[in-house]
Amino acid sequence: KGPDPGIAQVKESLQAVKNKILVLSGKGGVGKSTVTALLSRALAASDSEKNIAVLDIDICGPSQPRVLGVLDEQVHQSGSGWSPVYVDDNLSVMSIGFLLDSPDSAIIWRGPKKNGMIRQFLSQVDWGSLDYLLMDTPPGTSDEHLSAITYLSQADLTGAIIVTTPQEVALLDVRKEIDFCRKSKINILGVVENMAEFICPCCQKSSQIFKPTTGGAKKMCEDLTIPFLGSLPLDPKIAKCSDEGKNFFEEVPDSPVVKAIERVVEGL
Ligand code: ADP
Repeated sequence: KGPDPGIAQVKESLQAVKNKILVLSGKGGVGKSTVTALLSRALAASDSEKNIAVLDIDICGPSQPRVLGVLDEQVHQSGSGWSPVYVDDNLSVMSIGFLLDSPDSAIIWRGPKKNGMIRQFLSQVDWGSLDYLLMDTPPGTSDEHLSAITYLSQADLTGAIIVTTPQEVALLDVRKEIDFCRKSKINILGVVENMAEFICPCCQKSSQIFKPTTGGAKKMCEDLTIPFLGSLPLDPKIAKCSDEGKNFFEEVPDSPVVKAIERVVEGL
């Protein structure tokens, strides 16, 4: 049996995408989808000439349509593949969420069906030319990751960004994620630490809600010699914006999270 023809199709389809980045996390709930959406918005806002897209391959929990505020949109299929949904002139998104009858439907698919969907997502979306494609993945290392890295194996993947909280249980899983990347020969662009502190809106005092006991994400990055891309604080305004699908950069431009993500983007 020869190589899966999907590998060549994905290579061909993503040829006009300059940077192909996987966004990973060890655990769920650490803010991977929020960080993906923030990064996409920040990249799109940083240069209107640049085209950015988000591909949501979190098949069982697609949240990009909600966070990017395009929940009721539908994708269309044309001769050249699926047309993504445009969030802004230079920001588009494709998600399994657009293909579901209801946002509450649970997807119960076995591995081969998920694999087929990921192949289609990677090879049949008509993105046009892109500067950045950010791929939001499920937490951990699942079937979806294995499918994605197989199909991307000839497509010149730029690398992975790993999102974590400072909490020890999250960092433990990040170490596994790093090991997965190393074994799969995926370049690690760096780690983003989310929910690093909470600044009280009343007294401005900072609290480390997920206080690490062994030095947190920065120390782990130093130990493992991988880049530390920065820390984002907790900000309830960011959670509200995500729930309502609003543009963080327009709604809460002064949020410390927005400032911090801009610094992450500058370092990419
Ligand atoms: P994951 O994709 O890792 O499962 P999400 O991005 O869905 O995590 O985030 C989990 C929850 O935490 C969401 O309700 C989101 O709005 C919220 N959240 C994520 N990052 C922040 C932050 N920096 N400040 C406030 N809320 C956040």
